[in-house]
Amino acid sequence: MKQLADLISTNDAGEILEHVRAMIALVERDGALISWNRAFASYKANCPLAVNLQDCFAQKEKAKIHNMLDSARRDRFVIELGIDEEAKTIFCDCVLIPLANGCVLFIAERFDTDSSLQGIIHHLNRRAKMFQAESESAKKIARNKQTEVEGILTQAKELSNVDALTFLPNRRMIVRELQDEVLRAERYNTPFSISVVDVDLFKKVNDTYGHLVGDEVLRNVAYQLRDHIRHSDLAGRYGGEEFLILLPNTESAEAAEQAGRLCKYVRETSVRANNHVLSVTISIGVAQFQPGVDTWDTLLNRADNAMYDAKHKGRDRWTVAE
Ligand code: GH3
Ligand code: MG
Ligand code: MG
Repeated sequence: MKQLADLISTNDAGEILEHVRAMIALVERDGALISWNRAFASYKANCPLAVNLQDCFAQKEKAKIHNMLDSARRDRFVIELGIDEEAKTIFCDCVLIPLANGCVLFIAERFDTDSSLQGIIHHLNRRAKMFQAESESAKKIARNKQTEVEGILTQAKELSNVDALTFLPNRRMIVRELQDEVLRAERYNTPFSISVVDVDLFKKVNDTYGHLVGDEVLRNVAYQLRDHIRHSDLAGRYGGEEFLILLPNTESAEAAEQAGRLCKYVRETSVRANNHVLSVTISIGVAQFQPGVDTWDTLLNRADNAMYDAKHKGRDRWTVAE
């Protein structure tokens, strides 16, 4: 750098000063303007009456320049020049260099003087905004997809617990609920009963009217059960033409009353299917959970045996297990 400075003669320096984009001015210690280069002149054209360096700048910058001149130190500082065509604030990187003759050299360079750099910055800003918009929309799509997948999974889970013919809980779910209720009854020492329901002579329905009519009859029995139990009870399809009803907080006597009503509802309901009108009956076995004795499967067995008892006694009736 020193070599370069040595090579530049006084005249060359003058020419260079005229060509650089930095604003350069020679001033007295108090800021009185002595001479300046072309870049400073074009800025000064905005304030032709200015005689001091401070006069060339906005009110709030005047004191800053005054203090810097006062300190007589070679310090860098930033001042605001004004607003450009795009309504952006223009800042200048400034330095005051005290010279041996008592004068001071003021050099100010706009942060944004390089227009090609501005172009690149502008372009990068636009790209950054585009990326931001793209990433926002990608995030939104991902969120929507996740909600969709969660919805499908919930539906799949629900469907895996539902019987496709009757829309009642299927065997898997009703047995799981039975196991849970047994645990609850044991823990809280509350009564709990179940009813095993079987359609009477159902094979004959299939044989006489066909499988599709049989399906309609099964659906109808399922709706009768679902619609005539308490809100806290749960009916599920245990298999074929067999259903299971769970009655939490219920003694067997109360469950037996419900069984009697269900037999009546099913008996009195006519099913219309495939131009046929028919009715069926059901047999029910009721059993109450015995804490400390029963497990979920012994309870189910006792109810099942009670149901067969009802069959043997002539069907279309209920029996309570001992
Ligand atoms: P019981 O009174 O002794 O119970 O006689 P049942 O004829 O009802 O008993 P069985 O076990 O002999 O016959 C049950 C029939 O139920 C046989 C089977 O084909 C029929 N079945 C089981 N699942 C379905 C189904 O989903 N749809 C139809 N249509 N029939 C079914
Ligand atoms: Mg059966
Ligand atoms: Mg049957």
